[in-house]
Amino acid sequence: MKKLTDSLKTFKGVSSKGAQKIAIDLIHNKEEALNNIDVIRKELNNHYICSDCNNVMSDGCDNCKRSKEEVFVVETIKESITLRDKGDITNFIFVLGFERKSDYTKHELMNQTTDKLIDNLDSKTKEIIISTTPSLESDLLARLLKTKIIKAGKDVKITRFQTGIPFGGSVEYYDDKTIKEAMKNREET
Ligand SMILES: [Zn+2]
Repeated sequence: MKKLTDSLKTFKGVSSKGAQKIAIDLIHNKEEALNNIDVIRKELNNHYICSDCNNVMSDGCDNCKRSKEEVFVVETIKESITLRDKGDITNFIFVLGFERKSDYTKHELMNQTTDKLIDNLDSKTKEIIISTTPSLESDLLARLLKTKIIKAGKDVKITRFQTGIPFGGSVEYYDDKTIKEAMKNREET
């Protein structure tokens, strides 16, 4: 039982007590659990993080094939999914993939990430919409991007979500109305 609970505890958010509860439940419903584990194993083997856009992909990246006329930028994969599901966004979404706010102050990481984002733009790109929550960090990102876009001689607008989303909140937790409102009310940097 210890091996089982120990491996369950390796999942994010599962406490010792939680692992014990899950373990007992799994043993009770062993057949169903084993089937689910087979599905998890198969699906995990089929999914990757795209090295171009940092989204989850399987068998080729769908996101990278989408229109890049407007390029959306979010912090996490979860935000990317929220934007796609609740904001009805069908365009390309770039995930920064930063783990914590202090990542924004790491020069090398910021340079690499913004370079990668700019590499993703194509000849049709007209606008980069920074869809992260309004914060000092997103200001920093917007400014750095703007400098690089100008340097690269690209005619691309940089806008940011403004009203609708409170300073420091996370896009991940907003409903469709709030996201659509924030998209409508974006401001050029
Ligand atoms: Zn991709």
